[in-house]
Amino acid sequence: MMIINDQQIRDCLAAAKEATDEQVLGILAKARAAKGLSLAEAAVLLHVTDPVLLASLYATAQEVKERIYGKRVVLFAPLYLSNECTNNCLYCGFRRDNKELERRTLTLDELREQVLILEAMGHKRLLLESGEDLSKVPIDYVVQAIKTIYATKSEHDAIRRVNVNVAATTVENYRALHAAGIGTYQLFQETYHRPTYEIMHPSGAKKSYEYHLTAMDRAMQGGIDDIGLGVLFGLYDYRYEVLALLQHAAYLEATYGVGPHTISAPRLRLNGNEPMPAVPLVSDEEFLHLVAVLRLAVPYTGIIMSTRESAAQRDRLLDIGISQMSAASATSPGGYKADDSQDASQQFATQDHRSLLEIVRTIGHKGYLPSFCTACYRSGRTGERFMGYAKDGEIQSFCQPNAILTVAEYLADHGNEATQQEFAPLIEQWLAKISDPAMRSLTQKGLRDLASGKRDIYL
Ligand code: SAM
Ligand code: SF4
Repeated sequence: MMIINDQQIRDCLAAAKEATDEQVLGILAKARAAKGLSLAEAAVLLHVTDPVLLASLYATAQEVKERIYGKRVVLFAPLYLSNECTNNCLYCGFRRDNKELERRTLTLDELREQVLILEAMGHKRLLLESGEDLSKVPIDYVVQAIKTIYATKSEHDAIRRVNVNVAATTVENYRALHAAGIGTYQLFQETYHRPTYEIMHPSGAKKSYEYHLTAMDRAMQGGIDDIGLGVLFGLYDYRYEVLALLQHAAYLEATYGVGPHTISAPRLRLNGNEPMPAVPLVSDEEFLHLVAVLRLAVPYTGIIMSTRESAAQRDRLLDIGISQMSAASATSPGGYKADDSQDASQQFATQDHRSLLEIVRTIGHKGYLPSFCTACYRSGRTGERFMGYAKDGEIQSFCQPNAILTVAEYLADHGNEATQQEFAPLIEQWLAKISDPAMRSLTQKGLRDLASGKRDIYL
C-alpha cells in the first residue's frame, strides 16, 4: 500500500478551491460527530477564508476536542541528550555544518542532574530528544538514558513517562527502545513533499525520504504501538503537508490497526543564518487554521504544541483543540541547569518563557484542566486499546479524574498557598463534571489519599 499519494493530494487541493459555503457547512456538521474527515473534506476546510465560516470551524474543533478528551491539557518537557549530529538538515541548529554550535552529549550524571531539576519543577512526563550521531549517541546510550531517567527519583517526584524523539532507526533498535519502556515514539517527516525533503536533507542518514517515511513501519514491527507523527510546518505548502499527514495516519491505521497516538505541529523557527532557500513559512492565522483542521480530521489523536509558539499563540491554540503542550522548555543538552548558557548549544530559540506554574495557572484560568497524567501507558491502555477508548470519547472518563488527581498532586508538592487556594474551587467544579458517580467517588477518595500524603494515584 502506498503511504503518500502525491497526485491524490493535488487533486483534492484543486477540487477544494471550487467548494461552496453549503459544502463547508455540511462538512462542519459531519465533523461535529467526531468521526473524522475524508481527505477531500479536509482539503475543503483548509481553503475556508470567510471569517464566519472560519469562526465556526474553530468552534467545531474545540467542541470535538472536548468530546474526545474533555477539558484536559497534558503537560510535559523536552529533554535534550545530545546536539551532536551527522545529518545536515538545512533548517536545524544542530546540523553538522553549523560550526558556531557548541557540541555536547550529556553524561549519565549530567542527565540525572537535569532530571532532578525537571522533577523539582513538577514535571512527570519527558520527551527525550537528540541529534543523530551513531558514534556519540548509540542506541545503547539512549536505552541507558531512558533507564537512568526512570531510576532518578527524588523525595516525592519521579518521571513516569518518557516519550522519545530520536532519529529513524532499525527494527532491532526500535525493539530495544520498546523494551526500555518508552511511551510514544515520535518522528517527524519534516516535509512530505519529496523534492523539498531532498533539498532540505542533502546528506547523512536522514537524506533518504523513503527510509525516514517508513520508520514508523519499523517501529511497529519492533513492538512500539504508540507512535507520534509530525510535520515541520513552514518548509512547504501547509495544505499539502496536512493532507499528506492524514494519508500517513490512514496508512498506519489500515496496515497496523492503530493510527498515530499524537500529531506534533512544530513550526519552523529560523535564526537567519541557515543555508537554505526561501521557504513559504506559515503565518499565525494559517497555523491556527491548520491545527483546527487536523483536530477535526483525526479527532482521536492528541495534538502537541511546543514552546516554538509564543505564549499568546499557545493560549489561542488551547481554544481550538490542542491536547498536549510542553512547558518551561530548554532546547539544548544541559539547558535546565540555571548557570548553563543555552544559546550557544540550543536547537532553536523558544518563544514561550513562562514557568510551569504560570502555564498551569493560565490553563486553569482559561477553563481547562492541566494534567500530568501517565495512567494510560501504565495501565496498558496503549495502541489499539487506547484507540478503542479514544474513538468513542470514552477516554475522557479516565482523563478527567486522572487530570484532577495529578494537578492536585502537582499543586500540593510544587504550588504555593495562593495557587492551592486558587485551584480549590476549580477542582470542586471539575469533580462535579465527572458524570459517572463511581469514578467521581474514586477521584474524591484519591484526593483524600493525596491530602494524607499518598502519591502517584491514578485510575
Ligand atoms: N534528530 C531527530 C530527527 O531529526 O528526527 C529528532 C530530534 S530533533 C532534535 C526534533 C525536531 O526538531 C525535528 O524533527 C524538527 O522537526 C525540529 N526542528 C529542527 N529544526 C527546527 C527549527 N529551526 N525550528 C523549529 N523546529 C525545528
Ligand atoms: Fe540532526 Fe534532527 Fe537537527 Fe536534522 S533535525 S540536523 S537530524 S537534530
